[in-house]
Amino acid sequence: MTTELKPCPFCGEKVFSVHEICNGFNQIVCWEFSCGNEVCGTKTAIYIKERDMAIAAWNKRAAQGEKI
Ligand SMILES: [Zn+2]
Repeated sequence: MTTELKPCPFCGEKVFSVHEICNGFNQIVCWEFSCGNEVCGTKTAIYIKERDMAIAAWNKRAAQGEKI
C-alpha cells in the first residue's frame, strides 16, 4: 500500500519519515513521525496497529494543522 505522507504542518518540509520504534502490548505499535528539517525538528509518536492507520492518523492531524 502506498499512502502518501502529508508534509510537516509547521515548516512544510516534505521529507517526513515514519518508522516503527517499538512494539507494544496488544499489537499496538509505536510509529514515530519525524520532520526532515533539522531546524523544525517536529517529532511525534502515534500508537496504533498498522502503518497505514498511523499514516492516516498523521495526515488527519497535518491537515488540521494541529499542535502536536
Ligand atoms: Zn517541520
